[in-house]
Amino acid sequence: MPQKTPGERAAALIGRAAEAQRRATRKALSGGRSVARLLAMTRAALARVERTIERVNKMMPPARAIACGPQCPFCCHIRLTASPPEVLLIADHLRGSLGNEALAKTKLRVANMDHLTRGHDEARREAMRLPCAMLVDRSCAIHSVRPVSCRAVASVDVAACERAYASRMAEPVPQVRLQGTAADGIGYGLIAGLRESGFGLENLEFNAGLHIALQNEDTAQCWLDGEPVFAPATEIAEKSG
Ligand code: SF4
Repeated sequence: MPQKTPGERAAALIGRAAEAQRRATRKALSGGRSVARLLAMTRAALARVERTIERVNKMMPPARAIACGPQCPFCCHIRLTASPPEVLLIADHLRGSLGNEALAKTKLRVANMDHLTRGHDEARREAMRLPCAMLVDRSCAIHSVRPVSCRAVASVDVAACERAYASRMAEPVPQVRLQGTAADGIGYGLIAGLRESGFGLENLEFNAGLHIALQNEDTAQCWLDGEPVFAPATEIAEKSG
């Protein structure tokens, strides 16, 4: 049997990781549904994304070094989407890590950003060039729990990122496609597990979803109980079959 190419091995690894995530999501949502299990599963999904990215980047190293790092805010000015579990994990992280005053400020910043961005499509958002509500002092304030979509983006040219930012995303950014494929694969596994557990397909606009999740401490339990809490933030909605 011919040996598999690195590309084939990377694709197989991503496929296995996505399938493992689908099963892990189903398992976490089987039986009595608890917020703690949902958040633990989501944290583990983010760790799986990191592991998978590291492994595929070792199998097929990018032609140039990845230029992304802290204090590099250029790509954090576009429209972001995330699944309900990711948004709920971020809300939980903010509540657990910030004091009362900082949390109140964060809620206000998220509410303001939601007010400015609600209903605007991708092209309009690129033209508006508003920062993500979680970008503070040029850094991601929730780096350890940032959404899968943020982890999917990896640039090899910071100067190109700056040009893209300056041109309101008219200039292209050379990206590590395999990293995007790996992150998206786990994201699809997460969504597949949600669908198989009876949840509809919900792709949340990030500012709107986080605004909702931060308003009420019961949001996670309400969502687990099947209430349409994220309906105002849901840009793609479909009932599961
Ligand atoms: S969540 Fe963090 S990494 Fe993602 S767009 Fe916002 S600031 Fe940037």
